[in-house]
Amino acid sequence: MSKFVYDFIEGNKDLKDLLGGKGANLAEMTRLGLPVPPGFTITTDACRAYLATGTAPAGMFAQVEEHLREMEAQLDKRLGDPRDPLLLSVRSGGKFSMPGMMETILDVGLTDTSVVGLAAQSGDERFAWDSYRRLIQMFGKTVCDVPGEAFEHALDAAKVAAGVAADTGLGTAELQHLVEEYKKVFHAHTGRDFPQAPHEQLYLAIESVFRSWNSERAMLYRRQERIPHELGTAVNVMAMVFGNLGAGSGTGVAFTRDPATGQRGVYGDYLENAQGEDVVAGIRNAVPLQDLQDIDPANFAELMSTMDRLEHHYRDLCDIEFTIERGKLWMLQTRVGKRTAAAAFVIATQLVDEGIITLDEALHRVTGAQLGQLMFPAFDPAATPQPLITGVAASPGAAVGRVVFDSAQAVAADDHVILVRRETNPDDLPGMIAAQGILTSHGGKTSHAAVVARGMGKPCVCGADTLDIDARAGTVTVDGTVIRDGDVVSIDGTTGRVYLGAVPVRPSPVVRHFEGDPQVSGDALVAAVDRLLAHADGIRRLGVHANADTAPDAERARRFGAAGIGLCRTEHMFLGDRRELVERLILAADDAERTAALDALLPLQRADFVEILEAMDGLPVTIRLLDPPLHEFLPALEDLTARVARAEALGDDPGRDRLLLDAVRRIHESNPMLGLRGVRLGLVIPGLFAMQVRAIAEAAAIRVRAGADPRPEIMVPLVGAVQELEAVRHEAEALLATIDGVPPIRIGTMIEVPRAALTAGEIAQSAEFFSFGTNDLTQMGWGFSRDDVEGSFFGRYRELGIFAVSPFETIDAKGIGRLVRIAVEEGRAARPELTVGVCGEHGGDPESVRFFHTAGLDYVSCSPYRIPIARLEAGRAAA
Ligand code: ADP
Ligand code: MG
Ligand code: MG
Repeated sequence: MSKFVYDFIEGNKDLKDLLGGKGANLAEMTRLGLPVPPGFTITTDACRAYLATGTAPAGMFAQVEEHLREMEAQLDKRLGDPRDPLLLSVRSGGKFSMPGMMETILDVGLTDTSVVGLAAQSGDERFAWDSYRRLIQMFGKTVCDVPGEAFEHALDAAKVAAGVAADTGLGTAELQHLVEEYKKVFHAHTGRDFPQAPHEQLYLAIESVFRSWNSERAMLYRRQERIPHELGTAVNVMAMVFGNLGAGSGTGVAFTRDPATGQRGVYGDYLENAQGEDVVAGIRNAVPLQDLQDIDPANFAELMSTMDRLEHHYRDLCDIEFTIERGKLWMLQTRVGKRTAAAAFVIATQLVDEGIITLDEALHRVTGAQLGQLMFPAFDPAATPQPLITGVAASPGAAVGRVVFDSAQAVAADDHVILVRRETNPDDLPGMIAAQGILTSHGGKTSHAAVVARGMGKPCVCGADTLDIDARAGTVTVDGTVIRDGDVVSIDGTTGRVYLGAVPVRPSPVVRHFEGDPQVSGDALVAAVDRLLAHADGIRRLGVHANADTAPDAERARRFGAAGIGLCRTEHMFLGDRRELVERLILAADDAERTAALDALLPLQRADFVEILEAMDGLPVTIRLLDPPLHEFLPALEDLTARVARAEALGDDPGRDRLLLDAVRRIHESNPMLGLRGVRLGLVIPGLFAMQVRAIAEAAAIRVRAGADPRPEIMVPLVGAVQELEAVRHEAEALLATIDGVPPIRIGTMIEVPRAALTAGEIAQSAEFFSFGTNDLTQMGWGFSRDDVEGSFFGRYRELGIFAVSPFETIDAKGIGRLVRIAVEEGRAARPELTVGVCGEHGGDPESVRFFHTAGLDYVSCSPYRIPIARLEAGRAAA
């Protein structure tokens, strides 16, 4: 029979697939000899079986019983024992951390009889009855779907009756009464009594943890974080320890380094006389972990040395949950901790300096996506007003938006909003995703809001405790200032400051550094980014080029580390004031008119190319001949029709509009993206490509005469058959031969029509280079109109798991990637010196960059701001 249950001592940290992250790490800590309460883990296999069939797999509960008996023997306590009951926590934990998304049930095993034993053993009656009422509440809510408010109402009523404000004011007798009330609530909503058989409680709790894998909020979180839905959760069953047994007890969370900045020090929160979930929920404000040194020096020292040990063992930042029960420290959880993008870079280089990891490993500790986050702007310090309030800097970045008070409002808003809440809970997730930033009045760096916001890379300020939020009235009051629903605030998650109004933002220090600003070179983060990028550059196989159409873009791309331009689009050069020249070209009635229009465009194009070649001197500049359908240069059909109709109604002569309208009608296509564009335009409109080729050649000749080193290349778009390319090449070569002083100019093609990929061997006979246009290749390969899919069916496709992420964002390695591999292989077989690159949006997408590395491309080309990201990812792929 399959093994569904592992004792903590049987597992280890590498078994996350089977035991989940929490279970694997509890096992690891147990093996290290750290003080972990005994327990066992039920595997994700069991969960998947349960979710598939609706019942636990055969033999699972028998194995649970076996392990439970061992635990009972070890602790000399029994589940349900009326004199000295063993109590259990039943905790969720999948392969990837999903903070607060699934369920955990504490104090399992309390019943009408065992609660008396717990009271006697602990010598604390109030504690025992409080634990019992918590169990009924948690169990009722999570296992039996009793609405949480039903319990809240009973609790409120008990507080009113006792004349106290907080739960802690309720005495033993009142809690005993509350337990009776809770049982009534339980019965009313479930039609049955609260289970008095501890084993039944345990089984039901385990099954409900399995089911919580598919709760709505867990599914939403997984979609957001791109965690596969089929993994399932493990269930950890462990002995309870109690942080709520008076002043010598407490609970806390800690980080081995600051998860926001990466700096070393003591980071965490501690709450005396409390259970774990109280800290995370931000219900009472915890004290900084440093204070534990005064409160309990011995345990503080033990905690510090344990954390040091964990950090060396995991060779990375760890976060932990711990509880002190009457002077004894217990470790309840650890994992390699989440961190901000800035902290990731700083910590990775620190660990290199400390001799713990190598530079290659350091590259795997950071991601291109994180580098991308660091390139976002922050508030301009010169323009920041007096902060309204300063809270906890929980997740860095600057956010400006209109205040909203609940998740639904945030989701409904179509402008930028800041979600303002007392504290957040997993139900707020949709609003947190929709908002620009999150502001709470309660909870610290480890509160739900903070953890989730950091995970999403979203600015968050929490624990701003002088904020008085009245969500119903739609107001926040701070020191007499009233902010209303809809007022704009600016929050700075890096400093914790909150400002009234919209504060202007300035570029990130990392971007300033790339731009050559010497003022930021001393910054620890800038130094870390620089060092890892330098290492990536030293080991990567993929070159990184830029998509740039103007000289300023080209200059920026160079500063950001581009080794050339992989895609210089020529269409923008036809817009603006030049649109009229294009209209003349399209309206041309005869050769003479057409030639005149092209002659007018030539010097303009040439001047553009001169500037760009100058900015990229000495590096390749791949210039794509005109690609988009012509109608993109003309007014829309509806506008023209209206204009002509209006003129005619007024008895005016529509003049030029009439001609334009005729032209638009003439060239109208039902499927313009599959119509007259790319090489087809060049072959149909005489002289168009010739004009562009001449402009490129003459610009290059001008640069050569200036003593420079221009390296233009001519790229033909949308080729599907070698004959198309041959026709263009033939004309271009003939033309180039007539112009003096032109350096060698290579002619190549985009590979973006599936047929081109499939006949790459033939095409390579005529092409000196390939550049994959993966946007069109994806569009035509999947048959997805890329301009329409997002608002239409992609949402549903993601829900159905047809793909986790849009194939326009991350290349579909299996299908479109196959076309890429075929073309690389057959192209190189036909022409070994063929250069192969990619210039679609995918060129700057981290995951896609890794694919292009494995597919053996020579370079990726992406927009200037994504160049450092691509450099880093190309290094990671090679490390
Ligand atoms: P999450 O994954 O949402 O953090 P956990 O399983 O870690 O959920 O548990 C929720 C809370 O219950 C945590 O604060 C944890 O410390 C506390 N807890 C879990 N198991 C025990 C236990 N055996 N004894 C005391 N507290 C526990
Ligand atoms: Mg936890
Ligand atoms: Mg294209």
